[in-house]
Amino acid sequence: MHTDPTCIFCKIAQQEIPSYRVYEDEAVVAFLDLSQVTKGHTLVIPKHHTKNIYELPEDVAADVFKRIPTIANAIQRETGAIGMNVLSNAEEIAGQTVYHFHIHLIPRFGHEDGFG
Ligand code: 5GP
Ligand code: ZN
Repeated sequence: MHTDPTCIFCKIAQQEIPSYRVYEDEAVVAFLDLSQVTKGHTLVIPKHHTKNIYELPEDVAADVFKRIPTIANAIQRETGAIGMNVLSNAEEIAGQTVYHFHIHLIPRFGHEDGFG
């Protein structure tokens, strides 16, 4: 498993930095985003460090993506959301600020929920 000791999400994965975890197993961690764009805004990351979707190995992609439906359903149940945006930013132009691949799960509660 490749990790980068300078990477903030690797530190979260290794529990060197605290986070509010909503899911964890041997390959993946899901935790609440520090800045909640809507209630329950969650980030899903592989424990394996990789910069973004361009550099994501297929096996790591499979580990992450196959868990998304389960995590999304759990968030849906917990928050009572009526929908969800699922997205990943790659490179600065697209809004990437943390260079460890992650998927945003953004629960939606209505047009006035403050996102999009
Ligand atoms: P990006 O802009 O790269 O797609 O998303 C990075 C996200 O990571 C941002 O939404 C930001 O709020 C979140 N974030 C940055 N640092 C931390 C942290 O230390 N803990 C948590 N929980 N989220 C973080
Ligand atoms: Zn990392």
